[in-house]
Amino acid sequence: MIRKTLLIAFAMMTLTACSKDAPEIDDYDPARDYFTFANTGQFVTEHVTLDLDVDFEKQELRGYALLTMRRLESEAGEVVLDTRDLNIASAAVLSGEQSAAAEFRFGETDELLGTPLIVTLPPEAGERFDLVLEYSTSPESTALQWLPPELTAGGKQPMVFSQSQSIHARSWVPLQDTPALRITYEAKIRTPRNLLAVMSANNDPLAARTGEYHFEMPQPIPSYLLAIAVGNFYFAPLGEDTGIYTEPELLDASVYEFADTQAMLETAESMFGPYEWGRYDLLVLPPSFPYGGMENPRLSFLTPSLLAGDRSLVAVVAHELAHSWSGNLVTNRTWRDIWLNEGMTSYLESRLMEVIYDVGRANEERVLGYRELLGNFERVPENMQALAPRMTPRDGEDSQGTIPYHKGQLFLEYLEAAFGREAFDDFLQSYFDNFGWQTVTSELFLDYLDEHLLSAEGAPLTRANVEPWLYEPGLPDDAPVPESATLIAAAATAADWADGALATADIPVDVWSAQAVIHFINSLPQELAHNKLADLDSVYGFSETRNAEIARTWFIQVAERRYASAYPQLEAHLNRYGRGRLIAPVYSALVANGEDLELAREMFERAKATYHPLVARWIAETLEESPG
Ligand SMILES: [Zn+2]
Repeated sequence: MIRKTLLIAFAMMTLTACSKDAPEIDDYDPARDYFTFANTGQFVTEHVTLDLDVDFEKQELRGYALLTMRRLESEAGEVVLDTRDLNIASAAVLSGEQSAAAEFRFGETDELLGTPLIVTLPPEAGERFDLVLEYSTSPESTALQWLPPELTAGGKQPMVFSQSQSIHARSWVPLQDTPALRITYEAKIRTPRNLLAVMSANNDPLAARTGEYHFEMPQPIPSYLLAIAVGNFYFAPLGEDTGIYTEPELLDASVYEFADTQAMLETAESMFGPYEWGRYDLLVLPPSFPYGGMENPRLSFLTPSLLAGDRSLVAVVAHELAHSWSGNLVTNRTWRDIWLNEGMTSYLESRLMEVIYDVGRANEERVLGYRELLGNFERVPENMQALAPRMTPRDGEDSQGTIPYHKGQLFLEYLEAAFGREAFDDFLQSYFDNFGWQTVTSELFLDYLDEHLLSAEGAPLTRANVEPWLYEPGLPDDAPVPESATLIAAAATAADWADGALATADIPVDVWSAQAVIHFINSLPQELAHNKLADLDSVYGFSETRNAEIARTWFIQVAERRYASAYPQLEAHLNRYGRGRLIAPVYSALVANGEDLELAREMFERAKATYHPLVARWIAETLEESPG
C-alpha cells in the first residue's frame, strides 16, 4: 500500500490493537505466521470460488465461498479458517461425486485476529475436496467501506471497496488468511444494475454494465491481495496495457495525473523482468480510501489525494507497480518479513523514478524518506526497529511505523553501493526468477544473498556486515546517508528567511518541486513568530494548497506551533482527506502541543463519519490514549 508508501506505513497499523491475552512465546519461530488461526500444516487452499450479492441497503456481501482444499495430513479431520464478523449459514463438503453437510463452530474471538471457524469434515471428504460455506458479511467488516452517495465524487450512487491487507480478507471471505499460502480465484458478483464491479483479477475495460460480473484470477496470490470495489466506475485507457477506473467526475484529472503509467510499466519490465499479470490498471477511489495506494494485482487502488494537478505525487504509482514484482510475485511469508515487500518495493520505486523522471527527483524522495526513518527511530521501540524482528500479535499498534519501507530501502541501497549497480541488478533479477510465485523469509533472503553475492571471492561485504540490518535496532555505522542538493538549498533558504536575511517574496517556492517545499517547511526553526507564518501563508497560500503532501506537512507545523489563525483551514484539511497518512499525524500534533486535545476530539467527532473504519480507529486510539 502507500506517498512513498508512508501511506502504506499504515498497513502495519492494521496489525494493531495489542492482543493482550496472547500467550508469551518462548520458542519463537520466524517462519510461522502468528496472525492466522488456520491449520495450514494440515490443509491448504488451492482455489477460491466466490458467488456474492452486493447489498448496499444492508451493507453486506451475501452468498457463498467454495474453497478447493487439499489435506496434507491424512489424520486431520478439522479445518480451521479465519473469519471476522462473518455470519456462517451452512457448511458442506463436496468430494468427487459425494456431497455432505459439515458441522461447524466458532472458536474464541480475539480482538486483533478475529474468530476461528472450525469445520469438522464428514467421512466423505477425500484428500482433495471442496468446502462450501454459505455466509454474509456484517456492516462492521474491517475490510469493507460502504460509502453513501454523498461521500463519492458524483454524489448520486453508493460505493463499496475493500482493503484486505494485512489481515482483513477474513472479514469478507472465510478463508486461510495468511500470506504464506497462494490461491487462484474466480468470482461471480451481482450488483445494482447501474454499477460496475472490479476486482484484483481480469477486469474487462469493455464490460457491459449488466449488474452481473465474472472474474478470474489465474495467477496464484496471497489472500491479502483479494480485492473488490463496486461503484459508478468508468474506464479510460492510458496506454496499450494500462488504464484507469474511477468515477466520471475524476476521470480527466486522473488521466492527466497518471499519464506516465504505461512508460513506468515498460521501464519496470526492462529493469526487473517480465510483468507477469496481464493488464495493469488503476482504480482511483474517494478520499476515504485509507492508504496512498494498495497493490491489488492487475488493479492498484489509489487515493484521490495524489491528484495534485502536476504529477508531483506519482511516486505512489511507481511504488504500487513495483509491487508487481516485490510483494505480489515474491511475497513475504509472514508480516514479520514485511520489509521484503515494502523495503524492496521502495527501493524499486526510487529506481523507477530515476528513469521516468531523473536522479535529482529520486534523491529528493530518498532524503524525505530518510528523515522520516530517523523520526521513526525516536518513537518505535528498539525491539521493533530490526528489519526482521520477533513479531507476534502481542506487539501493539503501529509496531514498526514506516521502518520496513525506509530502512529496507536503505539496506538495499547499501548493498547496491557495495557490489555495484550492475551486479546488484543481476542479483535482483535472479531473486525474482528464483522465488517467483513463492514466499520468502528474511532468513531465506539472507541465505540467497550469501550464496550469490556475499560469498563470492573478494566480496566487499560479509554476512557480519549484513546481519545487523536485519536483527539490530537503528542503523549500522556504515549505513548510507541520502543527499539532495536541492533539498540542502531549501533548508538553507528556510534558515535565511527565518533570520530575516531573505524577504518572503524572494523564496523560490514557485520553481521548487513539491518535495523541496516540504523540506523547506520541515526545516523552519523551532522558534518562529506567528506573524512570520502568517506572512508565509499569505504569499504562498500553504493553507489552501491542493498538493496533499504539502498540506499535510504544513498543517502538522501549524498544529505543533499552535498557529491558530490557520485552524479553520486545518479542520478543512481533516475533512477533505481520509487517507491515514495525511490526517493522523495532524491529529497527533494537535494532541502533542499540550493544549488542543479537546479541540482535536471535537474536530474528529465532526469528521469521523467520513473516515474509513481503520483510520477512524487509529485516530480514536490516539485521542483516547492521551491524558485529559
Ligand atoms: Zn507498498
